[in-house]
Amino acid sequence: MCADAGTHEIAPRSGVAFTLDKGDRLTVIDPRGEQVADLLAFNRHDLDEVISSGRTLDYASRIYLTTGDPLYSNRSNVLLRIVEDTVGRHDFLLTPCSADTFRIIYGDADPHRGCFGNLAHALAPYGVAADRIPVAFNCFMNVPVDGATGTFTVEPPLSRAGDHITFEAERDLVIGLTACSALQSNNGSFKPIHYRIERGRPGEPIEGARESVADRNALPPGA
Ligand SMILES: [Zn+2]
Repeated sequence: MCADAGTHEIAPRSGVAFTLDKGDRLTVIDPRGEQVADLLAFNRHDLDEVISSGRTLDYASRIYLTTGDPLYSNRSNVLLRIVEDTVGRHDFLLTPCSADTFRIIYGDADPHRGCFGNLAHALAPYGVAADRIPVAFNCFMNVPVDGATGTFTVEPPLSRAGDHITFEAERDLVIGLTACSALQSNNGSFKPIHYRIERGRPGEPIEGARESVADRNALPPGA
């Protein structure tokens, strides 16, 4: 569904999956404000490689990431880089909300499948099994941490209507993206998320895309 030319809408409490080529830019937009979007990225040519919260936060020595920060994979390759960010507060600690989240934290008897279920459903046609889903990069999610005790809380996002974060793909990727389904993460209401894809690295010839294929061919299958 297109919100306007080139901008796609993810309905409240749902998710999508799509591919990016190396050099493409993905902009995730919060159209109304205070809405989280969970983002996953897998190496399109080898789904065993996926974004890693642990490696990324370790190498950044920070838990809050913003413009210029890379998102590393479990193999320590950069899959995405944040190239623009109008909010500056996102979360990379907490797993996607799920039926179990709603059962355990909210006490729901008949829980929604959450971002986890939405991601699993959207990514299945790309060959991603549910058990491969790691901690997502939670765009706009606001999780302040008490530095002394480590206690954290989930607070309303700092994003306002029209705020966005832009990522550049450094590999060919499969992306999963949601409009988050958890009341607490979204200040009590479920809203849509918009996203936009710009193809190709600005100012660079198409050859850039071939490099990743060459890289890929240099690796043994399953490496
Ligand atoms: Zn969620």
